[in-house]
Amino acid sequence: MLSICFYILYELLISMSSPTQTTFPEYQGNDLGLKYSQSASVFKVWAPTAEAMKLHFYDKGTDGTRIKTFSMEKSGVGVWQREVAGDLQGQFYTYQSTIDGNEKQEVTDPYAIAVGVNGERAAVIDLRKTDPIDWKNDKKPSQKSFTDIVIYELHIRDLSSHPKSGIKNKGTFLGLTEKGTRGPSLIKTGLDHLVDLGVTHLHILPAFDYASIDETHVGQQYNWGYDPKNYNVPEGSYATDPYTPETRVKEFKEMVKALHQAGISVVMDVVYNHTSGLENSNFSQLVPDYYYRKNKEGKFSNASACGNEIASEMPMVNKFIKESVLHWIREYHVDGFRFDLMGIHDIKLMNEIRDEVNKIDPSIFIYGEGWTASSSPLPDSVRALKANTYKMPGIAAFCDEMRDGIKGHWSNHKDKGFVSGKPKMEESIKFGIVGAIQHKDIDYKKVNYSKNAWADSPSQCINYVSCHDDMTLLDKLAISNPDVSEEELKKRQILSNTIVMTSQGVPFLHAGVDFLNTKNGISNSYKSPDSVNWLDWDRKAKYLAIHEFYKNLIALRKAHPAFRMTSKEMINKHLNFVNLKEENTIAYKISGNANGDEWKEIFVIFNGSNENLNYKLEESQWLRALEGQNIELEPVTVIKESLLIKSFSAVILAQK
Ligand code: CA
Repeated sequence: MLSICFYILYELLISMSSPTQTTFPEYQGNDLGLKYSQSASVFKVWAPTAEAMKLHFYDKGTDGTRIKTFSMEKSGVGVWQREVAGDLQGQFYTYQSTIDGNEKQEVTDPYAIAVGVNGERAAVIDLRKTDPIDWKNDKKPSQKSFTDIVIYELHIRDLSSHPKSGIKNKGTFLGLTEKGTRGPSLIKTGLDHLVDLGVTHLHILPAFDYASIDETHVGQQYNWGYDPKNYNVPEGSYATDPYTPETRVKEFKEMVKALHQAGISVVMDVVYNHTSGLENSNFSQLVPDYYYRKNKEGKFSNASACGNEIASEMPMVNKFIKESVLHWIREYHVDGFRFDLMGIHDIKLMNEIRDEVNKIDPSIFIYGEGWTASSSPLPDSVRALKANTYKMPGIAAFCDEMRDGIKGHWSNHKDKGFVSGKPKMEESIKFGIVGAIQHKDIDYKKVNYSKNAWADSPSQCINYVSCHDDMTLLDKLAISNPDVSEEELKKRQILSNTIVMTSQGVPFLHAGVDFLNTKNGISNSYKSPDSVNWLDWDRKAKYLAIHEFYKNLIALRKAHPAFRMTSKEMINKHLNFVNLKEENTIAYKISGNANGDEWKEIFVIFNGSNENLNYKLEESQWLRALEGQNIELEPVTVIKESLLIKSFSAVILAQK
């Protein structure tokens, strides 16, 4: 997301000021939107400054005929309501407010739970008719600790759009429900690939209704989807039929059900920080100047760098976001949320979301980008920035310290990192190895971005080296090391995620990283075609050994709770860094059967230099768990006295 927005050049220099929005009494009810029954439907919309509100009905989601119009009635707290008798299933509706004597545009209900094609009109549906068979008995996979999670980040289309995916329903929610799919050389693809790899959580890029794809011409355009239109409705271009409102709802649920049955949890990427439109959005047409922040000059501020920023601190915005999150949990059984540009939101909102979610299921995972794309008028101290993570228990942030320490700066493509021999990256990587908690062995003055630990628990730290933003890991390593052979690049690619996957905190993998997926060096591929973004299953067949390595790496982490410690106290007690005299090396020991591990001692050494490293082992003998690309899940190879760690590789030793 960050990089989409960087390319849209909004030059706004905003100095600190308070938001200038008007305040209104907060509506306390939880019944905004449509309440459907076969005998009558009730519509409620919050619009305190409106002088009149119309409710229009149509026979189609776009064009078609206006069937009828009702005047809505205002109640005491700025809510307009209307009960309409009869079974309205299959009809579409819009709201139209009159403010300051002007009739505004017709808009969708912000609380719409279903829409027609392109999300232009809300739809009346019976949600119960969208439930898959046995949906009531859908069983969510669960984990003991958030640090047990392994995230795989995927765009819906990318999994299936490649011609050799072997998946019938290409580019759709249903593509994720197909079992037994095979690609070139009979490699596993799709859902089978995810299961085989062993990830616990599938993080899907925006799958709520977004604006940028014309749903009447699906397949002709591609977009990551960071431009929200209807927050509480699935995106139509991922449905087999974007016109029939029930279809996208049902198919999203089918996807969740299939993933749950496969033992995989589902994380939604949510973008409550801005909307696709500003003056024309349903928020603005219903309550002008309420939903968006302004700077002290009275102009709309733009911390998202996408044209606006949502004023999450306003009570009715806070309420909307919380209720939207709960809708996805209750209606779609979603298991986690990744908040895009979370640093735009206020800390109070994020903590309230965590509290509300805990009432339903405390195992639901919440994390986000602890930064903004541009400056915000809301003071830093009250926003959900990475530096404030410790103030938000149960919410995690992305650790860009380790990310860029490993591979080099995200936007300076030629910049190298630890795995390409760049010196002085050790402390930034150690910062992530301990899961961003305070640790005695780290010299925080030498960390690249943060000069203080920001997590209070390792479960608040997402460790990663690549994601949908920017180049794939292989592309980044290739462009920053133009003279290096493919074999050498593979070593560095593997070393990168060996560091991530053995670190404390929550590991996160970009889909396709396990088979060296490429976007041909394109970094901001948000609207590049399928052929740039897709998972290229030919590459999985070609680099199957790399995939097998990643699979074993995940298995290694899952088998050893020492890599998944649950508190900062536990990490400080068991994990000690070992000082090596050689530059560009990192070594640490995890001692004392940490977190109940069967291994008494674990010794991890990363060599990010061009030279092989010889290390004299003090203890008598060790078992070899990992050396470069070789992983022994049940180690038998004994290492005595002297250890060789080849250049740009890792070694992990264990003692029982
Ligand atoms: Ca859409």
